[in-house]
Amino acid sequence: MRIGIVKERRDHERRVAATPETVKRYKAMGLEPLVERGAGIAAAIGDEAYEGAGARLVEGPEEALACGILLKVQRPTDDEMASLRSGQLLIGMLDPYMNREQVEAYAEKGLTAFAMELLPRTTRAQAMDVLSSQANLAGYRAMIEAMAAYSRVLPMMMTAAGTVTPAKVFVIGAGVAGLQAIATAKRMGAVVTATDVRPAAKEEIESLGAKFVGFIPKDAATAGGYARPLTPEEQAEQARIVAEHLKSQDIVVTTAQIPGRKAPRIVTAAMVAAMKPGSVILDMAAESGGNVEGSRPGETVEIGGVRIIGARNLPSKLAPAASILYAKNLLNFVQLLVSKDGKLAIPFDDELVKGTLLTHDGKIVHPNFRPAS
Ligand code: NAD
Repeated sequence: MRIGIVKERRDHERRVAATPETVKRYKAMGLEPLVERGAGIAAAIGDEAYEGAGARLVEGPEEALACGILLKVQRPTDDEMASLRSGQLLIGMLDPYMNREQVEAYAEKGLTAFAMELLPRTTRAQAMDVLSSQANLAGYRAMIEAMAAYSRVLPMMMTAAGTVTPAKVFVIGAGVAGLQAIATAKRMGAVVTATDVRPAAKEEIESLGAKFVGFIPKDAATAGGYARPLTPEEQAEQARIVAEHLKSQDIVVTTAQIPGRKAPRIVTAAMVAAMKPGSVILDMAAESGGNVEGSRPGETVEIGGVRIIGARNLPSKLAPAASILYAKNLLNFVQLLVSKDGKLAIPFDDELVKGTLLTHDGKIVHPNFRPAS
């Protein structure tokens, strides 16, 4: 069984789906890794490192795209789709909620397609959890970018010429990314506050030494551990608290997401208008609809002296680190699907397979994407 790794061709994508370390492990599992020449360059991995690990290097994407198992970071482009054939396994961050038509295309092609973002967040799944590994790095990078755009200093500085007060940082949404953003701001000496709607998040914020601001609506966490959308009354209560708090903040990083839906709009234009000039907002949810009114992915807009940075693919900006973790997540997942002698043996009843498998045998099999009958 061949396992293919191609260069990612979507805009702003620098990560790669396998590293020399995981290639070596695939080889040891009895698989034959094929790597497109140049696949890892943007993630600081040279061809010779893959070759040294036992991969066969191939010119151009075609041969790697034809492998029985295809590993991807992002969903295939139209050109890549045209090369795929029935029976292949496709594993990657396929972003199915935003690309439902492509899910149909996977079924029509006869692909066995796995969307890694749909992995249940169970203890057993932790080593395969791409959302966590990438969000952790993204949260760190978000705070670094916000700090770099801020033209004052983060820590308190006591100098002979006077004392500089520490920056006030507010993090909205304290999941994996938000908690890492909080930790990064704390390390820099900022005064950090944060909000979320899940009760567990409040405790986690406090355990990092930040102060919780906001309110926890009743039953705001779903059984899967995610947040649910707020009711209009709850939104109004949150808006009242956030609006007041934002007036005194210097740096705001927003990370709030509801899986499968547009990100909740939490910071309005009126709230931005009431902030101090020189403040910086980084909207990590800019690509999924935006937590901040007026944010645009990949752009920085300035409104009334407040800079709003719309994040775009932050993990890709840390491609070497992000690829190491992502590749390891995929390796752990592929080990579920392959028997000891390197043959495919997909355990279709396994909860991790059921949770991620979109299409198989020409049909959409995932309950969230099956057409209504
Ligand atoms: P996410 O990316 O879906 O959302 C980011 C944060 O935004 C979440 O903390 C969410 O509660 C918050 N949010 C949503 N709507 C909001 C609103 N209106 N106002 C304020 N905050 C809002 O979350 P995530 O980082 O993927 O984490 C989701 C859950 O998964 C968490 O419970 C986390 O602890 C859990 N998790 C479990 C494991 C595991 O045990 N294997 C691993 C990782 C994450």
